[in-house]
Amino acid sequence: MTDIMRMSELYVPTLKEDPADAEIASHRLLVRAGMIRKAASGVYTFLPLGKRVLAKVENIVRSEMDGIGAQEIMMPVLQPAELWHESGRWDDYGPELMRLDDRHDRQFCLGPTHEEIITALVRNELRSYKQLPLSLYQIQVKFRDEIRPRFGLLRGREFIMKDAYSFHDSQESLQQTYDDMSAAYGRICDRMDLDYRPVEADSGQIGGSVTCEFMALADAGEAELVHCSCGYAANTEAGEGLARPTEYTAADKLTKIATPGVHTIAELAALLDIPESSTVKALSGKGKDGAITVFFVPGDHDLNELKAARVVDGFELLTDQEMEAAGLHKGSMGPVGLPEGVRVVAAKSLQAISRWVVGANEDGYHYIGAAPGTDFEVDEWADLVVVKPGDCCPKCGLPLEGARGIEVSQVFQLGDKYSKSMGATFSAEDGSEQPFLMGCYGVGVSRSMAAIVEQHNDENGIYWPVSVAPAHVCVIPLNVGDEEVQPAAERLAADIARAGFEVVIDDRDERAGVKFADADLIGWPLQIVVGKRGLKEDKVEIKLRRTGEKRDISIEAVAEALAFTKRNIKGSGIGAFGSLFSD
Ligand code: ATP
Ligand code: MG
Repeated sequence: MTDIMRMSELYVPTLKEDPADAEIASHRLLVRAGMIRKAASGVYTFLPLGKRVLAKVENIVRSEMDGIGAQEIMMPVLQPAELWHESGRWDDYGPELMRLDDRHDRQFCLGPTHEEIITALVRNELRSYKQLPLSLYQIQVKFRDEIRPRFGLLRGREFIMKDAYSFHDSQESLQQTYDDMSAAYGRICDRMDLDYRPVEADSGQIGGSVTCEFMALADAGEAELVHCSCGYAANTEAGEGLARPTEYTAADKLTKIATPGVHTIAELAALLDIPESSTVKALSGKGKDGAITVFFVPGDHDLNELKAARVVDGFELLTDQEMEAAGLHKGSMGPVGLPEGVRVVAAKSLQAISRWVVGANEDGYHYIGAAPGTDFEVDEWADLVVVKPGDCCPKCGLPLEGARGIEVSQVFQLGDKYSKSMGATFSAEDGSEQPFLMGCYGVGVSRSMAAIVEQHNDENGIYWPVSVAPAHVCVIPLNVGDEEVQPAAERLAADIARAGFEVVIDDRDERAGVKFADADLIGWPLQIVVGKRGLKEDKVEIKLRRTGEKRDISIEAVAEALAFTKRNIKGSGIGAFGSLFSD
């Protein structure tokens, strides 16, 4: 017996009004469609329909993980502080880590991620290279005391993540699993019908160096990306694109000009009536050793501090006081006549121009026509800028396009960062003890649910991809008490369920308008309206939620047509039902 869900029994408190705190579509619609409710800032309950969607996302992720040979486990949320002291992250992780004490005053945290637990898990029992590689994963709640929890499920303080960890005896083996995971992550996005880009990323808090983020394109996304038609895509935090500075040709030799009151690039460009890209911006910083470096980037770009840190170990920007003490002139810094011992590092893209417009290291003065190699020396050329739309693609040279994205997942090669600090070793083929090479791989399960809604909504509500919809088909009898309509709708729902679909019947004694509005808001992919008038001709109306297309078809044909669709059409998106509408 296949179950039919009944709207008269389901707990689906839909709302007509938008919740006051909801700024973006997914937050607004998941609340209004009765799928989630806020318990506290960044903490949500999943109601029955929301839980069904969540379970479908989980199952897609689970089947792709199982498919590449990863094994599911379940680790504790509650993690002892000792393990975090071993890895060094008890101090490094900062206030996002939810910390607590037990009754014996022992310290714990609520897991934001599980590298420590899993490394401790395997370090005594995974002993031989013969047992490698090994991939383990879990789907579980995570806690991060985010500084700005917002946007509903997009940035919670408690959220669901799939996290996988892999263990290897060689870089080749790690690379192989990393590639398998990346391919699985692409398939997960495809199955959820997400328009996404794998992007070059920065490894941030977790450590390691090789990493890629999977970004669902959406205006509500917090990440800024650049991408190119050749396939290159990057987070602007990490991307490489080449800036395109423009040459200011008015001076063919070093010329000092008075620029009274000019302190910023915008003011300088306005005074000279040139684009900001014809000026050169200077920023000063120091390294761990205290040595001072001045960085030069095209005037229309920002210095990427992560990249600066690759050139200068322990990079920090100088404060105003530090600049003054070092004899630097904020607002008119330039490469000509810098104090003795200051290192000059310039953006590679500046090699394209031979005459620079720069500060003169003297308040109220700038140089035009300053030539590197003649008027000053550059100690090092490096990739330094925050990439932006319009820069040249590092792969093919075409101008990059900008977009916003939601990071739904990320893959990392951790190397031996955790195995070394936590003493997790195995005996290698040659008998030596070696630290594992590790990878870690996270999918934001609850965040994916929100990302899907961001990409699948219109003015009436959500239109779920079939693969994650809370049910596939909603049968809507127009007159519930009617002695023909109601039994016909029940029979139809049963037939559809027998054909292998998840069906809900809106058997509430409500006006048609209310039922239609709820069906569109909740976003069942296919709606079937059963009414008195249609039944006279043995017909019902089917409606594809995604496009709004409607069609009258004979009631007998419905279940069979659906069964045909199921047999012949694969896919997460419109494909699964769209065929009902093509002749
Ligand atoms: P972000 O940069 O958005 O804060 P992150 O890079 O810190 O995320 P990871 O440590 O890579 O996150 O976690 C793996 C995945 O978990 C992310 O790709 C994202 O989908 C999800 N995730 C991370 N933080 C949150 C959050 N606060 N709420 C919901 N999902 C999250
Ligand atoms: Mg991440």
